Amino acid sequence: MTLHDNTALLNPISTLRGIGPKSAEKFHKLGIFTINDLLFHLPYRYEDRTSIKSIRQLLPGTSAVVEGEILDSQLKVGRRRSLLVRISDGSGFLTLRFFHFSKGQQDSFTKDKFIQCYGEIRRGPNSLEITHPEYSFTSDEKKQLTQDYLTPVYHSTEGMHQTSIRKILDQALDALSLSSNEMMDLLPNSITNPLHLPGLKDAILQLHRPTAQTNTQQLLGFKHPSQQRLILEELLAHHLSLKELRNKTLVYGAPAFDQKSELTEKFIKQLPFELTGAQQRVIAEITQNQSTSIPMLRLVQGDVGSGKTVVAMAAALQAISSGWQVALMAPTETLAEQHFQNFTSWAEQLNINVGWLTGKLKRSLRKTTLEDLAQGRLQLLVGTHALFQDEVKYKKLGLIIIDEQHRFGVHQRLALKEKGYEGNIAHQLIMTATPIPRTLAMTAYADLDLSIIDELPKGRQHIDTVVLPDSRREQIIQRVSEACKNGRQVYWVCPLIEESELLDAQAAENTAENLQHILPELTIGLVHGRMKSEQKSGVIAEFKKANINLLVATTVIEVGVDVPNASLMIIENAERLGLSQLHQLRGRVGRGSIKSNCVLMYNGKLSKIGHERLSIMRETNDGFAIAEKDLELRGPGELLGTKQTGLLQLRVADITRDQYLFPIVEKAATKMFKECPENITPLIQRWLKQGLQYGNV
Ligand code: ADP
Ligand code: MG
Repeated sequence: MTLHDNTALLNPISTLRGIGPKSAEKFHKLGIFTINDLLFHLPYRYEDRTSIKSIRQLLPGTSAVVEGEILDSQLKVGRRRSLLVRISDGSGFLTLRFFHFSKGQQDSFTKDKFIQCYGEIRRGPNSLEITHPEYSFTSDEKKQLTQDYLTPVYHSTEGMHQTSIRKILDQALDALSLSSNEMMDLLPNSITNPLHLPGLKDAILQLHRPTAQTNTQQLLGFKHPSQQRLILEELLAHHLSLKELRNKTLVYGAPAFDQKSELTEKFIKQLPFELTGAQQRVIAEITQNQSTSIPMLRLVQGDVGSGKTVVAMAAALQAISSGWQVALMAPTETLAEQHFQNFTSWAEQLNINVGWLTGKLKRSLRKTTLEDLAQGRLQLLVGTHALFQDEVKYKKLGLIIIDEQHRFGVHQRLALKEKGYEGNIAHQLIMTATPIPRTLAMTAYADLDLSIIDELPKGRQHIDTVVLPDSRREQIIQRVSEACKNGRQVYWVCPLIEESELLDAQAAENTAENLQHILPELTIGLVHGRMKSEQKSGVIAEFKKANINLLVATTVIEVGVDVPNASLMIIENAERLGLSQLHQLRGRVGRGSIKSNCVLMYNGKLSKIGHERLSIMRETNDGFAIAEKDLELRGPGELLGTKQTGLLQLRVADITRDQYLFPIVEKAATKMFKECPENITPLIQRWLKQGLQYGNV
């Protein structure tokens, strides 16, 4: 087989020798359908068998080729019968452990024989060990275990061996090496040459079959030019796909609101506080953006408590001043309700009408709300994703505000654009309290303009955080009691532990009961996900009025709840939560001018990483620093909440490891648009399987 052109790459893998329906299915499980997919199924690591390591140098957890003399071999009968072969190379001892072995094998391990073996080094009871090593006797010249080059290791699936992946790949690689150099290249030389990156064909060949000349250290560290070439391509493909999306929305017009908005001015004047410099700057950015007919797609990032709601209201009022309607969507009923209350109280003095819509609204109320909306009697509609169901018709929708965007997928934010007016689409403002490291924003949100509220309102208190084992529970409860005696209010958070909301609700109920038992003098409230939203809001309202001392809650209070007098938060099982989530939760305190504290309780013994993670929470209150760390420790999927949706699943790139390439990505994208726009779609298709699917929304 030869690859004549790009279409040959799209042939199914079943055209290769040795792939029947059964093995094809296994490859499909890995997302490999075509020859092209196979070539891009790159090794995720390499085994280094290029040299023999001395036993003294060995590190547990790594793999190595070792050579030594057999000292003895003994059969151990215990819980599990095993054969232990002890070898030495003069620098130390190593044990080879076999659980399965034949009689012939057992007899072959005779004293004084030289043996070479390869495998993962582990700590054993008496010395370092390798379980079931690959091995050969050194006298057997043909079976040297060392190799001249690094051995690629591929992600595989059950019942698929590395050797069979390599064998199938060999056919594709042979064909590739016969094909012309240019056929796969989609990046112009003006991008690759200055960076000294190889062509795609050479890069792929080298990564699958590193030669003896390949720089081993570079390859192991993912810094080899061939790797950089592919990483750059992948990051570029993601970046371009979002840019394309953005360009598609730019085809439409949006309403240009009047720059000067009396309502906004009046609103800001009547606030009981001064806006921070950052709030003023971001409001100005939005106002400017909304005064043009270019659709706004703006992401406002601001740490918890930075005052994003006020910014949202200012933006909304500009639209309303110019006679347009605004939809504000929140991820949960509780948060939507909080916003509704806030916005209604602000709106009263401004003489505008705010409506409310969620999935749970009573039929009759829903009907009037929808009528009022269609007639234009409502200027602002607050709610959950129910705001964008088909039967919801706006008279003149000019602005969509989405709060706490990280809980929505990219696809959702695009689906919203349908609801425009007379060929216009609405401006979009997206707010998030999960600070997104800049690097990640460039890949995941390249279609959005960024505004950052990087300043907290004056007088905010640093939240002192301590990390304690739950064996100190009694003392912690004592502390809660004292805080309440001093007129402070306290949150006690029982995070989601079970998959089931029911069990979690029960856990929170039990905790509330226990605490009430120990602290009978306190008024204790309870909120959890199983309660009706009126019930929840009722309890939160009582807490706000300080009729409740201690609020026991699941993570439903993560966003939006704003009770400035609450100044102590206890979080149970903190080790199970993501850092950004802990930061969100902790942001419920420290909202007033009272010194605030947070206790992170953990269960049992903390792992080293667990310890490291919780220490970050103790060391900093800076959401950005926390998010960076979270990204490093848990990857982008968790941070963006896209893990389930499968978006931003990178194949070769690693956002943290490859950060240094990001500035290049942006420049390369500009070059692509200028020099070879026709290559953009094929590049996106190559790397993002679903890419164009959501691009077509
Ligand atoms: P978040 O950014 O987390 O959504 P909010 O908008 O809920 O923050 O604001 C948190 C609290 O800070 C609210 O009580 C709000 O009224 C108050 N706030 C907002 N801006 C300022 C400011 N400039 N000065 C003082 N308090 C402010
Ligand atoms: Mg908010």
